[in-house]
Amino acid sequence: MISVPETQLRKHGLRVTAVRLGVLNALSRRSFAISQPELEVDLGHNCDRVTLYRTLNTLCEHGLLHRIVDDKGTSRYAPCRDDCGATDRHFHNHLHFYCEVCKQTHCLNETEITIPHLSGGFEIHNIQFSASGVCGSCRTNRILSKS
Ligand SMILES: [Zn+2]
Ligand SMILES: [Zn+2]
Ligand SMILES: [Zn+2]
Repeated sequence: MISVPETQLRKHGLRVTAVRLGVLNALSRRSFAISQPELEVDLGHNCDRVTLYRTLNTLCEHGLLHRIVDDKGTSRYAPCRDDCGATDRHFHNHLHFYCEVCKQTHCLNETEITIPHLSGGFEIHNIQFSASGVCGSCRTNRILSKS
């Protein structure tokens, strides 16, 4: 049986490798973006740091993952939707929400943001929308712990 990550890799013209599959599987199990150190823990001894670093870059360049940098400069990775191309250009019209309590970055795919049309010859290659605050589950926990 061919897994979804395997199909994704093929569709984007990438060779299927254990590390690429591992990364895509690890990300598809989560509802929030994860950093390279978190991925290292997740993948265990199956891959070294350099391979993982290269793999993340490759997947970003080919439009399978996008990178989200928080205000501390930590890069986190999340899966792209189908419309990212193979040119390392990402046009995500969703909000990246950083939770100040659980320190996790969520891709809010349901919230669509209109990408502005720029006059004056400017060409957008990457665009990101970010916000910070408290996520739904942390708010629920907070309410529960108060009562
Ligand atoms: Zn993307
Ligand atoms: Zn939270
Ligand atoms: Zn995202």
